[in-house]
Amino acid sequence: MPIPFQIRHAQLLFHTTRRNNTYFCNNSYSFSKPQQTHDRNDLKFVHGKKLLKDLSTWGIGGPCKHFIQVFDQTQLASAIRYCHENSIRFIIIGKGSNCLFDDLGFDGCVILNRIDFLERKEHGVFRVGSGFRFNKLGKQCSNEGFAGLEFAGGIPGTVGGAIFMNAGANGQETADAVESVEIVTKDGKFQRLERADLSFGYRLTPFQTMQELAAIVAVTFQLQRSESSKMRQLEYLERRRKSQPISERTAGSVFQNPPYLGVAAAKLIEEAGLKGFRVGGAMVSEIHANFFINSGGSTSQDMLTLIAVVKEKVDRKFGVQLKEEVLHISPYCNDVKPNKDVTFEGRKIDTHCL
Ligand SMILES: Cc1cc2nc3c(=O)[nH]c(=O)nc-3n(C[C@H](O)[C@H](O)[C@H](O)COP(=O)(O)OP(=O)(O)OC[C@H]3O[C@@H](n4cnc5c(N)ncnc54)[C@H](O)[C@@H]3O)c2cc1C
Repeated sequence: MPIPFQIRHAQLLFHTTRRNNTYFCNNSYSFSKPQQTHDRNDLKFVHGKKLLKDLSTWGIGGPCKHFIQVFDQTQLASAIRYCHENSIRFIIIGKGSNCLFDDLGFDGCVILNRIDFLERKEHGVFRVGSGFRFNKLGKQCSNEGFAGLEFAGGIPGTVGGAIFMNAGANGQETADAVESVEIVTKDGKFQRLERADLSFGYRLTPFQTMQELAAIVAVTFQLQRSESSKMRQLEYLERRRKSQPISERTAGSVFQNPPYLGVAAAKLIEEAGLKGFRVGGAMVSEIHANFFINSGGSTSQDMLTLIAVVKEKVDRKFGVQLKEEVLHISPYCNDVKPNKDVTFEGRKIDTHCL
């Protein structure tokens, strides 16, 4: 059964700590707190200053309460342990290219993953840090004559984000090329999971519901020799350049393509006459209707309202309920309202998924 958007980000994305069965949320936190840093085992935490808009391709989002950047798995495990010891909820992010952060920021710790090694194992086998750039990996493997990740050139995320989301394009998916995934659990243990034990679907992965998961650390890919991989990779990239607003601030496709309909979400949005439609600084792209642009100064509320209005109009016209692919990261994990009120042009819009 598909997981509702709100529930998904409330329950899956946030690694929270609980006291007496109550989620520890400090809603009275003041976001105007001045920046402070402290070192702990070589980790530099920044408190109260880092802006999420600087960590996301959409360029939207307020300050996070704690921020830390990690470059290897020891630092990652150490940062996770620190959050646990101090009852701080945390989220790990790569390039923030699939996330809508909130104007209120995040009342916890954002761990920015920059674990970016690449090891060549046997022929066609690559072990890659989860913070490695996915588009760089796609280009590199294709250049070396290996097929399986040609589609990744042009996806501006990390390997960790790609495996978490099962990113895909042009009939290829991340999961197809995976041999194993290394994770760190909430109690600090490292585990290697074999591909055969993991089941993936369209933008659906076991990591989205894995209770013990703290973070994905590395992925091993098994690729096939191919004479034409480089040509295909360049072809896909060219197609992207022609059909997507690549110079704008976006988060890729906002909605998943509806299953079994044989029609893309972009087509439905376009046919509903919504290209160029805007709410504040948020706008439906004129080039690709499933890409929503921060045209300057978009707030998270502008974007959420635009998403809600587009959903409603497509539903009214075609009877199709679009499902978000982007993830809204709420500032507080578990106090989100399942029926958030969104009003547009004086009307209240039903946003059961926002
Ligand atoms: C111009 C553009 C084009 C795009 N094209 C495509 C496309 O063709 N196909 C496609 O599928 N997507 C596409 N995207 C969306 C996005 O780039 C992908 O979903 C990408 O894989 C997200 O990676 P990220 O590192 O930015 O993840 P983030 O946005 O940082 O995070 C996404 C989710 O993954 C989780 N996560 C990230 N890293 C880890 C980790 N190490 N361990 C555990 N959880 C983690 C985060 O907590 C979050 O829940 C596009 C986006 C843009 C802006």
